[in-house]
Amino acid sequence: MAIATRSLGADLRRLLPPHQVFDGIEDRTLYAYDGTSLKALPDAIAQVRSAAEVAAVLRFASDHAVPVVPRGAGTGLSGGSVPAQGGIALVLAGMRSIKEIDTSSMMAVVEPGVITGVFQKTVEEAGLFYPPDPASLNYCTLGGNIAENAGGPHGVKYGVTKDYVLGLEVVVPSGDVLRLGGKQIKNVTGYNLVQLFVGSEGTLGVITEATLRLLPRPPAKKTMLAIFDRLDDAATAVAGIMAGGVTPATLEIMDQKSINCVEDYLKLGLPRDAEAILLIEVDGMPAAVEAEAEVIDRICREKGVRSFQTAKDTKEEDALWKARRSISPAISAARPSKIGEDISVPRSAIPAMVREIQRIAKEYDLPIVIFGHAGDGNLHPNILTDRRDHKEMERVERAIAAIFEASVKLGGTLSGEHGIGLSKQSYMGLAVSNQTVKLMADIKRALDPKNILNPGKIWRA
Ligand SMILES: Cc1cc2nc3c(=O)[nH]c(=O)nc-3n(C[C@H](O)[C@H](O)[C@H](O)COP(=O)(O)OP(=O)(O)OC[C@H]3O[C@@H](n4cnc5c(N)ncnc54)[C@H](O)[C@@H]3O)c2cc1C
Repeated sequence: MAIATRSLGADLRRLLPPHQVFDGIEDRTLYAYDGTSLKALPDAIAQVRSAAEVAAVLRFASDHAVPVVPRGAGTGLSGGSVPAQGGIALVLAGMRSIKEIDTSSMMAVVEPGVITGVFQKTVEEAGLFYPPDPASLNYCTLGGNIAENAGGPHGVKYGVTKDYVLGLEVVVPSGDVLRLGGKQIKNVTGYNLVQLFVGSEGTLGVITEATLRLLPRPPAKKTMLAIFDRLDDAATAVAGIMAGGVTPATLEIMDQKSINCVEDYLKLGLPRDAEAILLIEVDGMPAAVEAEAEVIDRICREKGVRSFQTAKDTKEEDALWKARRSISPAISAARPSKIGEDISVPRSAIPAMVREIQRIAKEYDLPIVIFGHAGDGNLHPNILTDRRDHKEMERVERAIAAIFEASVKLGGTLSGEHGIGLSKQSYMGLAVSNQTVKLMADIKRALDPKNILNPGKIWRA
């Protein structure tokens, strides 16, 4: 039975403690956004504290055909937590207990609202390491990371969120609470349903608990900065390092436009005339770290590096990372709008993809900044523009389509870590077949027959 929008808040207050429900226009406006410029108002906000509360909301929403949009911290970059069809913004950010750190099994059990950076620091204090490191880690939640399969610089050596999720508690739209996987490192008991929910962008179930794998903390690390006169040489050095028998912990690339935006923003003394810099980190046992750093130094020299610098202490390390971590705010300050993409290509295709992006920038006469996780093939071309300039926006749209087409042609795809959400769904046909989209829709229908959970995301119905 459909429900009148104006009674939704009142209905939710009957299901949850009333102070956890909001439906005033100011609150609805706060929950209308994520990290994109997309906006859609929810009709009410439910801040939940337990799986039982989530189940009550989902049961009610299924009975009354009300959309429910799960939300962590709202930092997503594809519109995933924007309530495109109104309904309930289901906020998990208050479920922030780290329930257990099991040092002998090297596992942690967490609620979905735990902030990623807080979790990393907590496990480090226990001598352990949780590698997934999105640049938003001081704000985003582990639930949002799992729903987006978030990644970061550590992806090149340590993989992304999916590689650390061994167990989940998920509430599905019927209100049933599923417990999937657990602390077992090996588990082939039926379909791998844990991974079905990882990266499902809040469309299949609501994550209310996760069991995460941890690693021993590497005892040593070294951070290096390689400055290149030519972007092409930097891209070739990336391929050379990865083929050279060394797997760095991070291998990040910044092009000349990113260098200059960061320099305008922070005045760190970066070389404005260099076409690219690589930020490289190796970690592990001290002797291995020394040996790997030497190999990387040699390969960069063979590929024509202008200068190669190794941080002497953590202060210098932090200074080097500051440049990389400041790219997003720096490029946001450069022009009124930025449109950030997130393509992922085979590592070997990095030089070709960089050249393609430069060609597209020229063809459409647009400033495109290139940076990203070059070591794992995940590049973030960011178009600097002004959304108020409709003529320019037409060129931007065509440039975005050209970037996706080039990525797919080179064996890549539309997103490495930000997901599809609302912002990339019109390009799905470039990367996946109609049969694949139909299979996704069939899976969605099996779990969510009334289509209440984050409807209208990932593909167009
Ligand atoms: C400055 C900046 C830098 C960023 N850098 C990176 C980066 O380096 N790497 C990267 O991967 N991402 C990055 N992001 C994107 C974003 O931070 C990640 O996608 C993050 O995982 C989103 O977490 P969140 O808690 O904010 O989730 P939200 O934005 O609230 O939600 C994201 C999606 O997850 C779903 N969801 C949230 N919680 C749950 C839950 N408990 N159960 C089911 N579904 C849920 C939502 O419905 C939505 O579809 C960046 C964003 C910003 C603003």
